[in-house]
Amino acid sequence: MKISAPKGTRDILPAEVARWRHAEQVFAQVCALHGYEEIRIPTFEATELFQRGVGDTTDIVQKEMYTFEDKGGRSMTLRPEGTAGVVRSYIENGMGSLPSPVRLFYNITAFRYENVQKGRYREFHQLGAEAFGSNGPLVDAELIGMLALYFERMGIQDAKLRVNSIGCPVCRAKYNQLLQAYFEPHIQGMCEDCRGRIGRNPLRILDCKVERDHALAADAPRLLDHLCADCQTHFDGLLRALVAQGTEYTIDNGIVRGLDYYTRTVFEFVSASFQSLGGTICGGGRYDGLVEEIGGAPTPGVGFAMGLERLLLELEARDIVLPDTPPMDLYLAPMGDMAATYAASLVARLRRAGVRAETDLCGRSLKAQLKFAGKRGVRFAAVIGDSELSTGQVKLRRMRDGTEESVSLSELETDATARMAAFGD
Ligand code: ATP
Ligand code: MG
Repeated sequence: MKISAPKGTRDILPAEVARWRHAEQVFAQVCALHGYEEIRIPTFEATELFQRGVGDTTDIVQKEMYTFEDKGGRSMTLRPEGTAGVVRSYIENGMGSLPSPVRLFYNITAFRYENVQKGRYREFHQLGAEAFGSNGPLVDAELIGMLALYFERMGIQDAKLRVNSIGCPVCRAKYNQLLQAYFEPHIQGMCEDCRGRIGRNPLRILDCKVERDHALAADAPRLLDHLCADCQTHFDGLLRALVAQGTEYTIDNGIVRGLDYYTRTVFEFVSASFQSLGGTICGGGRYDGLVEEIGGAPTPGVGFAMGLERLLLELEARDIVLPDTPPMDLYLAPMGDMAATYAASLVARLRRAGVRAETDLCGRSLKAQLKFAGKRGVRFAAVIGDSELSTGQVKLRRMRDGTEESVSLSELETDATARMAAFGD
């Protein structure tokens, strides 16, 4: 029987890897510019971490987790996101004693049992960052500015940033009552999820993707009109800091993180090409109660996560060209045993000098070798036979048009890169 990749997983083939690497490397560079350091966390964790750290009432915990019992009878879960694991690590490794804010970034795979569609997979990749130990709002603004610079460096000059504040548990509790009262008369016509949310967590209704509920949410009371004084000051400070650093934004009441330990700042970067998925490439916010929830000392935090697949789809939709894997520089085509031995040693020296070089590994005829080099898209080829060995001269052939130049073997060995550059592609 043929075995296929599991539904919702994808192979990233060699032709695509250069684009992925580019996106990842630019992210690491931009994070480094802002003082964020990379952290790597486990792929699976105790299930309880996500129940507490993502929240029992979320779709992720209720419907989407890959949970299994290990051979020791412990319940484990493949990480559905990165923040909970990073918070666990922050606590477990005593990072609270480091100078704050402690700023970390990550590049992970994540796993969710989802309805698979374009931009929505069961194994996907997230680039994310977290900052612990500062109440902000300057740290929030810095984090958001870092994202804006990342989009810019990836060629997206007009990324749409939406910000909101969801207040603190105190002002939100009062607001939740207003929301319940607003939605109550309509509840019969709302989706099943929202009928559950209204009692547990009415804020999440604002985030519902069902058209009808979404329309209803547009006229709901705004939490921004009901913030307590401290939360208002925080939000005003954030907006001032964003203006000061030149980050453009719009305020969007519909952005929520519906858990008690999420507080104040929430934000999203929205794509032009994903309206069907709600348009989100990246979401983040402040979670001042989370570290405590997971068992650490009360510590404020703020972070975001971005879906790498969605980012790449967005770049594609905008016709933004990313680097391709470069072709091999030089193919050495030996004829005969002596030449093969020589080519094997030359190719090793060339590689040591930084030339992407290869030679025959399959005992092919000269004709078949040149055909192979052509298919590989190699930039240059050189045939090495007995006469080349005795004269010490080879013909360097530019594969694009077949033009040849005579080069000495010793020059090729010491100076292949410059020689090929002078010859041109
Ligand atoms: P959505 O509302 O689209 O389901 P989410 O709120 O569940 O997203 P987060 O948990 O905030 O998403 O994750 C951050 C980012 O990770 C998202 O903005 C998105 O780009 C990406 N992401 C989330 N789930 C998936 C998935 N199943 N496949 C691909 N990317 C995903
Ligand atoms: Mg989701």
